[in-house]
Amino acid sequence: MSAYIGRFAPSPSGPLHMGSLVCALASFLDARAHKGQWLVRIEDIDPPREVEGASEAILRCLRAHGLIADQPPIFQSHQSALYNQKLGVLEQLGLSYRCQCTRKALRSAGPRYSGLCRTRHLTDGAVRFNTQVWEEIQQSSVVAFTDRFCGAQRCDLAEKGDFIIHRKDGLFAYQLAVVADDIAQQITHVVRGEDLLRSTPYQLALFKSLGVKAPQYGHIPVVLNQDGHKLSKQRGDPGVDETTPYANLLQSLGHLGFECPENFLGDLSETQSRKIDNILKWATAAWSERYLH
Ligand SMILES: [Zn+2]
Repeated sequence: MSAYIGRFAPSPSGPLHMGSLVCALASFLDARAHKGQWLVRIEDIDPPREVEGASEAILRCLRAHGLIADQPPIFQSHQSALYNQKLGVLEQLGLSYRCQCTRKALRSAGPRYSGLCRTRHLTDGAVRFNTQVWEEIQQSSVVAFTDRFCGAQRCDLAEKGDFIIHRKDGLFAYQLAVVADDIAQQITHVVRGEDLLRSTPYQLALFKSLGVKAPQYGHIPVVLNQDGHKLSKQRGDPGVDETTPYANLLQSLGHLGFECPENFLGDLSETQSRKIDNILKWATAAWSERYLH
């Protein structure tokens, strides 16, 4: 049980909103229920999308809710050497190639990349994962896995096409960075929003290519706003109010389907931090009861 290492990995494109808090709480509770470690990773590999001060604000907001990581947070912007090393491994295995197709050419070719540059032996440009070579090695193009909360999943990577792992503008692609970091941090369990379920097959293919056992995945329903859209920093959904952490935690637990009994609220004169501590303890036990037994 103690080998469990989980993580929450927000991108600093704005303040923490309720949807992210729910994901943070779910991954935290799963780690605590397993008596494991919970880590925080700031996914700041996309500087154009970054909002100044957002990383600090997110970390402060997590702390205000009693969600304190067991190790100092790592920042993807400091991990370039690691990502380059993984790119090198994939290249040596013949699992990647350069692509110089223009955006216009890609658009006119349709939603799936044709693999045009696989045989062009280019030395510059974006780097794509070669699903054809991967399929030959695996003797199948299908990625199948069982999600802890969503059940059996199946994805044919050949139908998805060769995905980008290093962008033309020099930025590392999300799929590559996430896998490299999950490996480096020895993550055993990933609990995150269902919007990332479709990324999981790509990540599983990368784990397998790099010869590392992938974490167990569990995807939880995302929080929607009144229009039925996922809450998003880009769309300007408001950040959570740090001055009401206890109420926010109760609301987050509600999203996760846990209702704290009324008599639990107890003595209202207790300090805020004590109340937070109590609710996290109650929620850890409830999570454990529902998912670990
Ligand atoms: Zn190309």
